[in-house]
Amino acid sequence: MEKFKYLVLSIAIISSSVFAQEQEKEKPQGHTDQNKFRQMKDLLATPNESRTASGAPGYAYTQQKVDYVMNIMLDEANNRIYGDEKITYHNNSKDYLEYLWVQLDQNMRAKDSKTPDIDSENFNNPFNGPVSFINDNLKERFDGGFNIEYVKNEDGSNLSHSINQTMMRINLSKPLAPGDVFKFQIKWWYNINDINVDGGRSGLERFPDGNNNYTIAQFYPRLCVYDNVEGWQNMQFWGRSEFALEFGDFEVKITVPADHVLEATGELQNPKDVLTKEQQKRFDIAKKSFKDPVFIVTQEEAEQTEKGRSTKTKTWHFKANQVRDFAFASSRKYIWDAMAVDINGRTVMAISLYPKEGNPLWEEHSTRVVANTLEEYSKLTFDYPYSKAVSVHSERQGMEYPMICFNFGRPNPDGTYSERTKRGMIGVITHEVGHNFFPMIVNSDERQWTWMDEGLNSFVETLAELDYDPNFITGNLPKDIVPYMGGDQSYLSPIMSQGDYVYQFGPNAYTKPAAGLYMLRQTIMGPELFDYAFRTYSQRWMFKHPTPADFFRTMEDASAMDLDWFWRGWFYTTDYTDIGVKEVKQYYLTDKPTENAKKIAGRYNMNLDDYKGQLIYYAEAVDGIVPSDAKEVSDFEVLNNYLAMLPDSEREALKKAPNHFYEVTFEKPGGLVMPIIVELTYEDGTKERKTYPAQIWRYNDKEVTKVFKTDKAITNIVVDPDLETADVDMSNNSWPKQEKESQFDKFKKKIQG
Ligand SMILES: [Zn+2]
Repeated sequence: MEKFKYLVLSIAIISSSVFAQEQEKEKPQGHTDQNKFRQMKDLLATPNESRTASGAPGYAYTQQKVDYVMNIMLDEANNRIYGDEKITYHNNSKDYLEYLWVQLDQNMRAKDSKTPDIDSENFNNPFNGPVSFINDNLKERFDGGFNIEYVKNEDGSNLSHSINQTMMRINLSKPLAPGDVFKFQIKWWYNINDINVDGGRSGLERFPDGNNNYTIAQFYPRLCVYDNVEGWQNMQFWGRSEFALEFGDFEVKITVPADHVLEATGELQNPKDVLTKEQQKRFDIAKKSFKDPVFIVTQEEAEQTEKGRSTKTKTWHFKANQVRDFAFASSRKYIWDAMAVDINGRTVMAISLYPKEGNPLWEEHSTRVVANTLEEYSKLTFDYPYSKAVSVHSERQGMEYPMICFNFGRPNPDGTYSERTKRGMIGVITHEVGHNFFPMIVNSDERQWTWMDEGLNSFVETLAELDYDPNFITGNLPKDIVPYMGGDQSYLSPIMSQGDYVYQFGPNAYTKPAAGLYMLRQTIMGPELFDYAFRTYSQRWMFKHPTPADFFRTMEDASAMDLDWFWRGWFYTTDYTDIGVKEVKQYYLTDKPTENAKKIAGRYNMNLDDYKGQLIYYAEAVDGIVPSDAKEVSDFEVLNNYLAMLPDSEREALKKAPNHFYEVTFEKPGGLVMPIIVELTYEDGTKERKTYPAQIWRYNDKEVTKVFKTDKAITNIVVDPDLETADVDMSNNSWPKQEKESQFDKFKKKIQG
């Protein structure tokens, strides 16, 4: 076998050494290494004792802890929140702190807020409906900022502080030493914004019956994160990039009208004070109902309650440990249902609150979707550690907090709804409940890195949705990001950008990272390697503060895959995937010297006649046509002589040598490197798949060549037949070239026309 192979290949060997000599004549220019596979040492922070090179928290990792004791009052008549809080700040760092920073998120709605000032304005906006027109141009600006009544020390004396927009600096009289605790108090009130007029992640929705639905969050001054990555994370809140928060223990008493139903982060401490005996009994039944939700408040009861207006109040008392935030929802309109979910032997409650306007959709799906989400996310990350997850209906919201979230999805007034409304509702509940895992528990810095919670969450959401309904249209698959990635480069930003500064926020921070992770799992790593690494990341950083480097490093560390090329391309650039078939050459074997062989032999003063009967040549089929007198492999004398010398077993193997030879050149007009997934269709209609790792592009970023030796003639070659790699231009993906219009062309025409 060796000798025969040598003879066939000798011409090729001569050819490549000649090529190498010609190359040397060119003088190389100096350049920096732009190889797409170079390691990310230039991009990632140097590992240290807090964050290891493996992507795990190091032995010196610390994080601050902040505990809150709060009294909150919802003033329904004036739509105001009043509150006071006692804050206990634990300095677990090794640093002395001269000051603390507190987030005053509601100041984004203050009269002097700069948030509206940074948007450009004009009269030509075709999307200006009457409401937004009045709101933007005629109405006085709503004042929803915090009114801070006092900031005091523990002993009641005034505490020096200074407010800069949405951030408040607490000036300490002496630096807070490592390991020390600082206690202080704040009292405040603010006007609650109307979500449908002023927008927002928190606020109220008005109903025609005169009732409101209050979904309340960012309602209290909250400590900023202090760490060894950002120092104080006190980047202003402009309304888009979300939050960075410390974990802590909360004890919160919320006073609302006595006929309201309320849910919040944490465990209810005084059910006997706020629930009827019947409601408590129904809750006990719900705790054992693992198949169907049980009503705590029925629609009939809620419709009765919403007609009244109690002048009395009730105080709901909650405790929550190890949470990074606190939110609540309150209304007399709520229907309330709950069911039990078995998370690895522990019972967790899935709960929903919704007005009758949410039905019939909400009683059918909400609590079941909550339960499915907890189950699916727990499989891919860690067992859901909290006692419950609540989904609250609010017409225009989709927003997450620990154990509670606010979700849209409202049927038409007559109770009918489209598939789209239903899908949107299932999608948003899965997404917002899923946020319990990212970033409520795997507590990344949302203000800096939107993708770390939105991207990871949208990815797991996709898997959970497909589990709830295998035909679910998720919108987060690689093919879904093609219009964005193939679009105008001047409106694209790398994923690794701070959220306030990116164009096309949704595709940038949600879809692209989610589609990328889907691709990593399904195509690049495979579910087994991916899932182990992803679970390792989730468990390492559960109740901690991970950074992008911790994620990138863990995914490689736990899988033994070098993914630097993927992170570098997909997360740090706006390059796109475009891989195609450039050229297919067919070859056949002959004992007649080819023109090419003669040319090369000439350079070495070889006379090919001297090798008659000893050499076999690969000849290119002109226009893909193999001459009718072309021989079968077994017809060659030189081969038969050689075969005769072989033991039987090897001879049989060699007789099976293929008869068809294709040299396929793949081109890569796209900047991203990706695996090449090839589907070959043979003359008898059978198909075969081959996948080449992305590293196939390591020496040539523009084109690579592969040889297929087959028994059957190939009739068709397709690159990425299942749209796994977000290839933006499918028009070059097939051989023979298909005249069919590509999806990308169709999309281009659509947006242009
Ligand atoms: Zn989200």
